[in-house]
Amino acid sequence: PLILALESSCDETAAAIVDGEGNLVSDVVASQIDFHARFGGVVPEIASRKHIEAICGVCDECFDTAAAHLGIEKLTWADLDAVAATYAPGLLGALVVGVAFAKGAAWAADKPYIAVHHLEGHLYANKIGAPDFEPPAVVSLVSGGNTLLVHMRGWGDYETLGATIDDAVGEAFDKVAKALGLGYPGGPVISREAAKGKADAIAFPRALLHSGDLRFSLSGLKTAVVTYINNERAAGREPNVPDVCASFQQAVVDVQVAKAKRALEQTGARTFCLGGGVAANPVLRAAYEDLCERMNVRLVMPPLSACGDNAGMIALVALDRYRQGAFHPLNSDAQAHADLDKPY
Ligand code: ATP
Ligand code: MG
Ligand code: FE
Repeated sequence: PLILALESSCDETAAAIVDGEGNLVSDVVASQIDFHARFGGVVPEIASRKHIEAICGVCDECFDTAAAHLGIEKLTWADLDAVAATYAPGLLGALVVGVAFAKGAAWAADKPYIAVHHLEGHLYANKIGAPDFEPPAVVSLVSGGNTLLVHMRGWGDYETLGATIDDAVGEAFDKVAKALGLGYPGGPVISREAAKGKADAIAFPRALLHSGDLRFSLSGLKTAVVTYINNERAAGREPNVPDVCASFQQAVVDVQVAKAKRALEQTGARTFCLGGGVAANPVLRAAYEDLCERMNVRLVMPPLSACGDNAGMIALVALDRYRQGAFHPLNSDAQAHADLDKPY
């Protein structure tokens, strides 16, 4: 089969086509970051409008790329076997664009429609670099909106082991970057600055490190960084940006790694995976390489290009759902929230 998947849950408009072997014959992402950067974060109203403007062009490019990849002159809607879209969780007005487009196309072309959970997509992104990856596994999902440890018992069978009680990790990177005047999004620029700084320069808190459970808390760390910056300025000093970034990043990584270790011990899983935009962080990736080597656990990570939002990961979920005949009616809708443990 050939399945088209759309992703529009946040600020990326994306389309991908997967074939029956799980090869992504096309995988197109259009980012809106430039339109949101001046506001220091994603503006929901702008996101949905930009999705509407971009989605036809992104789909056209996706079809053209797929046709070239398949060595045919033109790929049409009639050549597809199903149309999928991310239906939850995310910005409702943004999700609605992909869902309405997918359902409209499915209806017009008389193809089944498949609704996909965005976070399940982030789990499946691990297949992109490692097609042989199979659960059971523990997955750390670290993104702009979520910070979770998930026990992936099988495909479609997930148990959330722990989550953040306040901010997400990506959100903390974005807020620290804003406090330092580094712009949006914060993750990439903080990791670049951090590479020039000393990770032990400033002692930032490691919240819930010894809580004995798998919960996370990031808002106190963000406040500690902001307080440090303000105190330095009040004392007439400019904070050393690389040192602040490196010390903040290390505080995040230390807690992430300690909780991952606990989750692996608790579940007995022999595979550890990552997902979400923060999974692109090089210091985090290196720390997990170290941990998994010490624990003799297989480490699977999405390629850097598949950590953030993309439609390829949504297409891989859709292919499994297609094989199961798990289609959704055309009156099913987008949802701002949906539990990963009961994704449909
Ligand atoms: P969710 O998946 O929870 O709905 P989202 O889709 O907005 O949220 P992603 O697109 O997966 O999140 O990830 C975006 C986040 O990743 C941003 O907060 C960004 O700062 C962060 N990020 C990107 N690159 C890095 C990096 N190198 N280090 C740390 N954080 C990063
Ligand atoms: Mg994004
Ligand atoms: Fe995401």
